[in-house]
Amino acid sequence: MYGNLKSILESELVAAKENGTYKTERVLESAQGREITVGGKQYLNFCANNYLGLAGTELLEKASEEAVKRWGFGLASVRFICGTQTVHKDLERAVAGLVGMEDAVLYSSCFMANVGLFQTFFGEQDVIISDELNHASIIDAVRLSKAERAVFKHMDMRDLEEKLKASSGRHLRVIATDGVYSMDGDIAPLKEICDLADKYDALVMVDDAHATGVMGKNGGGTPEHCGVVGRVDFVTGTFGKALGGAGGAFTATRREAADYLRNRSRTYLFSNSLDTAVTGTSLFVINHLKKHPEFRERLWENAKYFRELMKKNGFKVPDAQHPITPIMLGDEKKAVEMAKALFDEGIYVIGFAFPVVPKGKARIRVQISAVHTKKDIEKAVEKFTKVGKEFGAV
Ligand SMILES: *Cc1c(COP(=O)(O)O)cnc(C)c1O
Repeated sequence: MYGNLKSILESELVAAKENGTYKTERVLESAQGREITVGGKQYLNFCANNYLGLAGTELLEKASEEAVKRWGFGLASVRFICGTQTVHKDLERAVAGLVGMEDAVLYSSCFMANVGLFQTFFGEQDVIISDELNHASIIDAVRLSKAERAVFKHMDMRDLEEKLKASSGRHLRVIATDGVYSMDGDIAPLKEICDLADKYDALVMVDDAHATGVMGKNGGGTPEHCGVVGRVDFVTGTFGKALGGAGGAFTATRREAADYLRNRSRTYLFSNSLDTAVTGTSLFVINHLKKHPEFRERLWENAKYFRELMKKNGFKVPDAQHPITPIMLGDEKKAVEMAKALFDEGIYVIGFAFPVVPKGKARIRVQISAVHTKKDIEKAVEKFTKVGKEFGAV
């Protein structure tokens, strides 16, 4: 029987290669960091979600070794049978505190946190109102719940209000948004969203995968940045980006809602406990960052420095407020080819073209990290300028 599937896959893969959506993976021969090794060569890395520069550090290597030594390698159990250790409870308290919520529940990934959220709380009589550019994990999570879905135009508060009005007869309504959108680094207008939620009696869910530990004065994420801590009902986030980079995630919420998740959320109940290395290390990271605000300070200095230098050299850089920095090029081919040329110059960045971003909005996405030095940034800008001139981008 495989023959039938094989021929379908072969033609789909050929089509993907032809239309430019086929994905290849660069294989790193080193740990994650400001510099990585590919094919025996060193590259400055500007495309990881390693915003605070913690991934791949000796600091976390040590923290994870200590966690495994103290708590063992794994639990061979789900949380509610015999898979909850002190360290899991401590991390839940710590991350709830970080994002300003009453309680938090751990998941193996933010994808699973999202999937385990909507289907637990929202059913046939309810409506999920979702930003059109929400992350794939939210889109799939919404599909897996029995609730009706409505989609509003990206960050369009007038359209969101229309959708809230149109669903006024329904039981529960929840507005779902990314805190930070990964292609532009733009931040959801949470103040306006919470005002509309109050006006129309809706709940608010924020996926803060790119923001926990990054945004807000204390790293509390976009609710802190937007001044709406306490007004958001659900925050999902990951330990797999700024907070260490290995994996693991959480849903932070109000007390009863967390209790209910522990009782009913399927991706929590029927999946193994978060591993001890990630749990212990994430707890270490949260405590460490409290004592070391300089990680975030360096990140913002770097992000600002890069943006300024790029603008000075004639590049089009939107005024977002996140270390995700899209270099807008427009032309699909230019974005992809330029990223390749930059790679040849030792700068690892990725070009994004349609269908990942809208037609005519192709770009190279740069992700700044606290671990970059001023020299790294200057070198990246110098290479961008050199390659940009060759491609007629500046
Ligand atoms: C990366 C990301 C996720 C997935 O996080 P994992 O913990 O890797 O599953 C979910 N939502 C958003 C918005 C993301 O950017």
